[in-house]
Amino acid sequence: TPRLRPRPSEDPSVYDYQRELDAALLAVRSAARVCRSVQSSITPAAIEKKDRSPVTVADFASQAVVCHALKAMFPRDPVLGEENADALRGPEGEAYRSRIQLELAKIDVHGNEEAVLGWIDHGCGQPAERFWTLDPIDGTKGFLRREQYAVSLALVEHGEVKLGVLACPNLEANTRLDERRNGALFYAVRGGGAVSDLLDASYAEDERCKLEVSDRDNVKQFLFCESVESGHSSHDWSTRVRTTFGSQRHPMQLDSQAKYAVVADGTAEAYLRLPTRPGYEERIWDHAGGVIVVEEAGGKVTDVDGKPLDFGRGGTLSGNRGVVVTNGKRHDEIVQAIRESEQAAVN
Ligand code: AMP
Ligand code: MG
Repeated sequence: TPRLRPRPSEDPSVYDYQRELDAALLAVRSAARVCRSVQSSITPAAIEKKDRSPVTVADFASQAVVCHALKAMFPRDPVLGEENADALRGPEGEAYRSRIQLELAKIDVHGNEEAVLGWIDHGCGQPAERFWTLDPIDGTKGFLRREQYAVSLALVEHGEVKLGVLACPNLEANTRLDERRNGALFYAVRGGGAVSDLLDASYAEDERCKLEVSDRDNVKQFLFCESVESGHSSHDWSTRVRTTFGSQRHPMQLDSQAKYAVVADGTAEAYLRLPTRPGYEERIWDHAGGVIVVEEAGGKVTDVDGKPLDFGRGGTLSGNRGVVVTNGKRHDEIVQAIRESEQAAVN
């Protein structure tokens, strides 16, 4: 893996996170293989029936893989994952337990049922001075539709995201070799920049793309992105925001933290996540990995009030409302427009 060392001018006491990065990349790549394997078994009939069992299997298997790796490498670090094994323990969980075990065996992760449940539950840790946070499958709806989803892993220290890895198995990687291939990996270390690579193979170090946000600064031409699900981010509100700027482009709608990835690699200029109801607290695993990738690519992330996201409050961003991600060019104006169009909605 490339050296993403913090720049020498920065705090010299900062260590380089190379062990953490290597472990995280390997773990997330393995988890993505499991997800792809399960996703390939989803039939149109299953989608029709709204059968959620594939996502359940992949979700738990992905968490097991990542936690298995983190537990071995960093046994003292708590992991805050989205899942826990409670639902798998009873007799109703039996069919799932064996399917998960089977999926893990395919990537050479072997353990009995109790061991597998233990790995999943290793992801039920509490936030600490240093901890990992994991969304084993972010964008479950996208996963089921065979569209965008992500595996997202991040390391948080003292309330700040220090390292993030995002696997987007159905997103095209924009590579320096000027070919486009399905399956992209995005990662960043605080102070060391952000990089994209292929998910399946790894490019030589000098052929990986250093991620840079778009330098477009005419908001009228911005490509905005948002959730597919209008229950997760208000589509009406974001339309009002774009209208303020006379934006002429349709928003790009995609599931998961792939939205952070497309801002980081310059495909889109902004990602708006505008609350659909008061009181919803964003989950840290839905954002930590994506936030550092965008910031290290030169972009900016705040909440809808312009406040930085506070990862030091436990499992949710309880000090923030919604999320605003931009290439950094017109961030404050966009935040302002969001605020003004919210009032317009209320009055
Ligand atoms: P997305 O892929 O952008 O639709 O976001 C998926 C994530 O939305 C899931 O992982 C959930 O944790 C999160 N989510 C669930 N309900 C809400 C809500 N009411 N507002 C915002 N996010 C939500
Ligand atoms: Mg999620």
